[in-house]
Amino acid sequence: MHRDLSLLGVEQVVIDLGDRSYCIDIAAGLLDRADAFSGLPSASAAMIVTNETVAPIYLERLRGSLAPHYRTVLHVVLPDGESFKTWDTLNLIFDALLGAACDRKTVLFALGGGVVGDVTGFAAAAFMRGVPFVQVPTTLLAQVDSSVGGKTAINHPLGKNMIGAFYQPQRVLCDLATLDTLPERELSAGLAEVIKYGPIADMAFLDWIERNMGALRKRDPQALAHAVKRSCQIKAEVVGQDERESGLRAILNFGHTFGHAIEAGMGYGAWLHGEAVGCGMVMATRLSARMGLVDNAFVERIKAVVEAAGLPVHAPVLDGADNVGRYLSLMKLDKKSEAGEIRFVLVDGSGRALMKGAPDAVVGEVIVESCV
Ligand code: NAD
Ligand code: ZN
Repeated sequence: MHRDLSLLGVEQVVIDLGDRSYCIDIAAGLLDRADAFSGLPSASAAMIVTNETVAPIYLERLRGSLAPHYRTVLHVVLPDGESFKTWDTLNLIFDALLGAACDRKTVLFALGGGVVGDVTGFAAAAFMRGVPFVQVPTTLLAQVDSSVGGKTAINHPLGKNMIGAFYQPQRVLCDLATLDTLPERELSAGLAEVIKYGPIADMAFLDWIERNMGALRKRDPQALAHAVKRSCQIKAEVVGQDERESGLRAILNFGHTFGHAIEAGMGYGAWLHGEAVGCGMVMATRLSARMGLVDNAFVERIKAVVEAAGLPVHAPVLDGADNVGRYLSLMKLDKKSEAGEIRFVLVDGSGRALMKGAPDAVVGEVIVESCV
């Protein structure tokens, strides 16, 4: 925010949060541009936090771009995977920071997907009661969703993202070129979160996604640039109005209530988060139909676009003996439930979402219909 960003060819989206406002910069090749990293809080040291998959591909390139701005550029390489989003991994970051005698001005750079971003953000919130951090997301999911908005967390054995903080980054730098090395399955998972923004906020964007799904899956640079930019704009608008999820921000969880039940019920990691959300959006749209908000043609439309993204549309059976009961009990445990009542994000077919409860019997019908 605090700079004149006349970086050539860089799209910018602003997250407007008063004196904590920041910019999302979107362009191919940002990682290699030292000028993209100017104007951040001054510090003598930068600490790059990444993981063992991303480090061999991108660590040295980021280090090269940070070198003109910091006297010391340190790094810590975390193990890769959702199962490492833990206290132990968080401590690896603190060990590295304290071991190098870093002070409270050190800037943390999260280089990787949503797992690295969430853990690094939480480390930045807690280290010396808060140090600046920058998101450098390298997955589609992280570029369109997790790196933006300031939710940071680690998992607890009893629940996902249960320990965390709201803590905003100083900047988000989305280098679209990093998506070239992303495995196909991860790209599809990211597309789930892109699709999400259509039915909850912008039907014209849903039309665009449907028309451009082929180009997106082929990683056409212009298509990816538009998808990331429009997704970030919608997220920025929502977060700007409701940073701490006292209301509106919950619409971003479209597909996530069913999705989290699938993730937890299958065991974390069996289905990618985006895969569960894709299937969850089909289920939430079915529920919207049963609640009289949309017609069956709209359900088919959402199912078709999720399928076209390479995502699953048939829900898994979580328990052969009492499948509906298992889904319901998992959903009642979700953070978003209130006093055991599940709050669903439903859509009305005109680009608006609403939060609503639904009778267990109706939800049960949706689960039965979806598990085929
Ligand atoms: P991830 O971070 O596990 O990354 C997916 C895989 O891709 C990993 O193996 C990673 O090492 C690898 N990878 C990353 N960038 C790569 C690249 N450019 N080339 C090749 N491989 C690459 O998963 P994700 O989908 O990015 O993020 C999921 C996490 O994000 C979950 O923990 C979820 O809870 C969290 N999340 C947070 C928010 C939020 O608001 N904070 C929102 C949505 C999701
Ligand atoms: Zn999500």
